Amino acid sequence: MTYQSKMFIDGNWTDAADGAVDQVPAPTTGETFAEIAHGGVADVDRAVAAADAAFPDWARTPVGERARAFLTLADRIEADQRTLAEIESRNVGKPISLALEEMEMIPDHLRFFAGAARTMEGRAASEFVRGKTSIIRRDPLGVVGSVAPWNYPLLMAIWKISPALLTGNTLVLKPSEHTPFSVLRLAELAQDLFPAGVFNVVTGDGEDVGARLVAHPRVRMSSLTGSVDTGRALMRASADSNLKRLHLELGGKAPVLVYPDADVALAVGKIIEGAFCNSGQDCMAASRLYVHESVHDELVAGLEKAVKELDLGDTADDNTTMGPVITAAHRDRVEGFVQRAKATGHTELIQGDNPGTGFYTAPTVVVGARQGDEIVSTEVFGPVTSVTRFTDRDDVIAWANDTEYGLAASVFTNDISRAMSASSDLQFGTVWINDHLPVTPEMPHGGFKQSGNGKDMSVYALEEYTEIKHVMINREIA
Ligand code: NAD
Repeated sequence: MTYQSKMFIDGNWTDAADGAVDQVPAPTTGETFAEIAHGGVADVDRAVAAADAAFPDWARTPVGERARAFLTLADRIEADQRTLAEIESRNVGKPISLALEEMEMIPDHLRFFAGAARTMEGRAASEFVRGKTSIIRRDPLGVVGSVAPWNYPLLMAIWKISPALLTGNTLVLKPSEHTPFSVLRLAELAQDLFPAGVFNVVTGDGEDVGARLVAHPRVRMSSLTGSVDTGRALMRASADSNLKRLHLELGGKAPVLVYPDADVALAVGKIIEGAFCNSGQDCMAASRLYVHESVHDELVAGLEKAVKELDLGDTADDNTTMGPVITAAHRDRVEGFVQRAKATGHTELIQGDNPGTGFYTAPTVVVGARQGDEIVSTEVFGPVTSVTRFTDRDDVIAWANDTEYGLAASVFTNDISRAMSASSDLQFGTVWINDHLPVTPEMPHGGFKQSGNGKDMSVYALEEYTEIKHVMINREIA
């Protein structure tokens, strides 16, 4: 397998202006497997200038033509699925089965966006003032600068590229410095589909490439999927530059509420998937469980059995269920949370396998955690979940809402009234009943509170990449 090591700017493959490169390690081994151009401010400026120059023509291109490019891209990704999955698996350390699942979702997401973009319309065309007709248009903003994370590198990039380009904006995308390769493969597949400058990829770190992109005065909108701290950095950059629009998909700490009437076996299966899928590196990961005392022991016993059955083998093997985390630093951070949870003295750890190579860490359930413990309140972003017992007297909804995060939550119950009231009381952008994790492109994904603002996927995402314009026509001129 060869990995693209150059950036894609103005329709050309290019090295960093100063020729700098980075070594990228495979999380399974810790050994370097590829090199990547280490971009800088000059590269961002080049890409933004190209995107700016390409904007007027792209904005005037009929949406049907833009959509056709996306439909072709979807077909090409479908045909390239295996290669893309192998790149993602190697670069992120994902089991190949998970990487393939993601690659199978992507063409469907592209096709949804391509179709939905053609249904966009203004809300009014009427006479609100005598003799004058008002029309609402939805127009593109200009150059969008998007910054993507490392946990689902290609899927998250697709959620940014699709609404931005289909609504007539041009784009400069910065993948995470840890995981640039699937996005660069996408650029190879798309290179003849868009006019030069419409879609650009600049690789490099957040502190220089990312920071320049979100502070650039010709960038009219920045979108980020990343941590809350990076979201704050974008807000500051926007305030200090040109008040650009922000679309922020940030961290999460999803609660799972398991009531006495829950199907416990179902809950165990969904929690294991929700907590350990992608090594728990998921903003919607099932990371704090609130379990009623009447089903607590049964649920914990089920989790114990299932965690010990997680297979942390070779990520190229179809049966492997969990891989390592992304970097050595992240592994140490995750293990720090587990050690501090243990040091509280009131918890017990259930741990699965740890192959001990690369950046693997053992899947962990922290039983006996209390509301207020660090492990219950802070995003770990690794294969760790906590169990907190509740009784009839505890207001578990208040515990679930007692957080600055608000991305996702789930409720396990067979009582329809309880399910309905919980789904309205929980302050999270997604609430699942008797499930955890599935997403679909027709439905919005995004946070309440500090989990961000704006929605990915759905027609809401398309709307956010447009500006509303009122056109008023005076019909009384001679
Ligand atoms: P991160 O914030 O460290 O990095 C995200 C991206 O921002 C990277 O490309 C990075 O290079 C860039 N970046 C860093 N500093 C920057 C700066 N000052 N200016 C501009 N760009 C900068 O996040 P991560 O570690 O890659 O991802 C993990 C985080 O992402 C978690 O908090 C997770 O919950 C969140 N996340 C959220 C969603 C969602 O949909 N809400 C999805 C996936 C991940």
